[in-house]
Amino acid sequence: MPEGDTIRRMAAAFQERHEGAVIKKSTFRHPRLATASFDGRTILSADARGKHLLVRFDDGRTLHAHMLMQGRVTFRPAYDVPQWRRRFEFTLDSGVVTGIDVPKLDIIKTKDEERILAYLGPDLCGRYDHEKAVERLRSAGPAPLGGALLNQRLIAGFGNIYAVETPFICGITPFQPVDTIPDIHRVVAIGAALIRTNARLGPQRTTGQPRQRMEQWILPSARRRCLICGSRVERYSGKQSPWQRRLGVCPNCQKRRDPAPVDLDRVRSLLHAHPAFDTLDLDAGTLTVPTLEPVEVRGRYRTGPVAE
Ligand SMILES: [Zn+2]
Repeated sequence: MPEGDTIRRMAAAFQERHEGAVIKKSTFRHPRLATASFDGRTILSADARGKHLLVRFDDGRTLHAHMLMQGRVTFRPAYDVPQWRRRFEFTLDSGVVTGIDVPKLDIIKTKDEERILAYLGPDLCGRYDHEKAVERLRSAGPAPLGGALLNQRLIAGFGNIYAVETPFICGITPFQPVDTIPDIHRVVAIGAALIRTNARLGPQRTTGQPRQRMEQWILPSARRRCLICGSRVERYSGKQSPWQRRLGVCPNCQKRRDPAPVDLDRVRSLLHAHPAFDTLDLDAGTLTVPTLEPVEVRGRYRTGPVAE
């Protein structure tokens, strides 16, 4: 799922392969950009802000893309995908880039990027200010935790995986009001450590288990019973959940409480196998690694269900 970590990896792969490349032919299949062209232009850089991808050109323009839940970018022609789904295609002197199912596409002036994206909260996988992020999330007050984690104006980068998995790891229901969680800074630190580590190393895993189908605790809809206590998982579809995203909750591990502090023993036992655990000071509710520079991505970028 394209969340802040996926987009950061996507931008890094884009930059590594095509920085300085010249576009021989550009095609857009998007209502507003049907006549747009980058033919002959050079790619200066590719970058990410939260869940937004920014590709900058040498004529002062930036391609601004938001993937929502389904968009992806692949570095091949993708002829196996129907043409109308290939929202943009670039043929460069360095290869091919295809934007598949990208729902939001826009061309903006590079100098306007900061102003246009100023509404976003601290960027989890970018220059991330943890204290500011905690302060912003706390301002959500009585809003339910799961919905608040998804609010990009508070913190930019979390998507549904982290909004569902982080409360589960903490032993808190995603319906818990933010202002009843006394150590909300720990919740933010755990989510930030997970997404930054996954942006750096690869798969969107929250369990630390390398095995397929074991990468997340409770979000996969095939998981009928809680991996920790065996209770039947409560499932909500996008239509049933108050913030329109599918949801899994363990009614036993994630009881509504007042107040609802983070269960530290549970976090230690669930996260110890995940490399994010080494970047986390759980007692202080902070990260032990520098976060004020964007995550340095390692390894190969994966495009998800449409294989490269
Ligand atoms: Zn459980």
